[in-house]
Amino acid sequence: MASQKPHQLHFVLFPLMSPGHFIPIIDMAKLLAQHGPTVTIITTPLIAARFSHTINRAAATGLPLRLLHLPFPVEAGLPNGCETLETVTSKDLLKRFFVAIDMLRQPFEQLLEQLEPSPTCMIVDKHLPWAAETARKFRIPGIIFDGMSCFYLFCLHTLYVSKVHESVPASEPFVLPNFPDTIVLTRSQLPGMFNPSSLIDMQDFRERVRVAEAEAYGTVVNSFHELEQSYVNGIRKVKGENIWCIGPLSLCNKDSSDKAQRGNKASIDEIECLKWLDEQEPGSVIYACLGSISRVSPPQLIELGTGLELSERPFVWVIRGNEKAENVYKWIEEDGFEERVKGRGLVIRGWAPQVLILDHPSVGAFLTHCGWNSTLEGVCAGVPLITWPIFAEQFINEKLVEVVLEIGVSVGARSAVELFEDDKCAVVAVEREAVRKAVDEVMAGGAEAEARRKRAREYGEMAKKAVEEGGSSYLNVEMLIQDMTEHVNGMEPKEEHE
Ligand code: UDP
Repeated sequence: MASQKPHQLHFVLFPLMSPGHFIPIIDMAKLLAQHGPTVTIITTPLIAARFSHTINRAAATGLPLRLLHLPFPVEAGLPNGCETLETVTSKDLLKRFFVAIDMLRQPFEQLLEQLEPSPTCMIVDKHLPWAAETARKFRIPGIIFDGMSCFYLFCLHTLYVSKVHESVPASEPFVLPNFPDTIVLTRSQLPGMFNPSSLIDMQDFRERVRVAEAEAYGTVVNSFHELEQSYVNGIRKVKGENIWCIGPLSLCNKDSSDKAQRGNKASIDEIECLKWLDEQEPGSVIYACLGSISRVSPPQLIELGTGLELSERPFVWVIRGNEKAENVYKWIEEDGFEERVKGRGLVIRGWAPQVLILDHPSVGAFLTHCGWNSTLEGVCAGVPLITWPIFAEQFINEKLVEVVLEIGVSVGARSAVELFEDDKCAVVAVEREAVRKAVDEVMAGGAEAEARRKRAREYGEMAKKAVEEGGSSYLNVEMLIQDMTEHVNGMEPKEEHE
């Protein structure tokens, strides 16, 4: 590899093709570029198209930032346009999606060879396990973007080491041993790797991810120390010091265009959305959104909508635009739902400008599926959360929110939905009354609810401070850059220094 001077630091970023993974990586790219290094994001064509405006806007302000794309591997056999996990709707497509992930390695390496200046390091989503070998081949640090919290990482470590979940029936509660807080879970709430009954066999892939994680130079985490200090310390003891918490990444979106267009073109006009929010009382609106890939059955969604209606409070309800949503849209029209909640209920069909909405002062609570990005975006907004985990790591995130931070109230979901099996699994796992009750509890007057709101506001303040100059995440970005600078200098041939 050609030698580099410190001022030529060049970070290459490669996200997994799912919104919860590529959205924070795009934010991270902007953040890193603000601190000086050149940043290249490499992704697939549809994702690149979704972000070209954002990146062009950032580059036009002088940030050393560019977005390149590789052709999507058609040989993987995915239908045209199926490039992100949002459109993967069956086990068969998921298998092909993982084939596509592996097929991206070769074109990625070809592109890496041509990049100028030559890359200093790569930050790659941990679900692209081949990247560890690529980093070795190019003799650059391969850093993983984990996408989850340190609390989650420490939970995972505790489960792997203690195997506490293995000796209990799926729905029987157990306590995580030797854990800083008392966390009670059931096996049926755990991510797929802890449920061998899982219908999709991903054990091989997960093993590859674990090997790549162990080989990585370090891990970048979208979180901040003040949120989960004991867990940052805990995971550092296990994984080593190279864990950089540099979030919340969503806070790098300062102007309203960046917030409004984050992740996709919004299905609602930004001005119309803000006007509607302006008309509501401060702190009165429930924002309800279950993420970008959750497949919730139409009857369950209808139950959610009805719960919001019963709450008699203003709300924004986001219904993800997929094939199942059509049934819900039909219900909304035929049932007269929208008419009944006119003025106090705003339905967004498709992609919502989530961060723009959450940042509005009229929002008083966030009903969330507890995806890590959404959880953190709720924390940044300084509002309490109404938690409705659905699958993957979401039940664990719920515990952080409810038990550790004490800023949330659960709707009472009991077990994770098996991916692509949601029609068979408990069609209505959470009833309307449970939604209404959780909303009431969060929005109530009284000392308990007020204390929860206060804590939420305080975490929101801490989040903002963490990313300001001198804050913990700001300093971690600087330390990461310093580490890479030293790495590059250490690699320079001696004569270069003389
Ligand atoms: N998101 C959004 N609008 C939507 C749905 C999702 O902006 O209508 C964003 C949200 O702000 C978050 C990401 O998509 O940044 C979803 O990531 P998360 O980890 O919360 O959940 P996932 O979708 O991966 O389950």
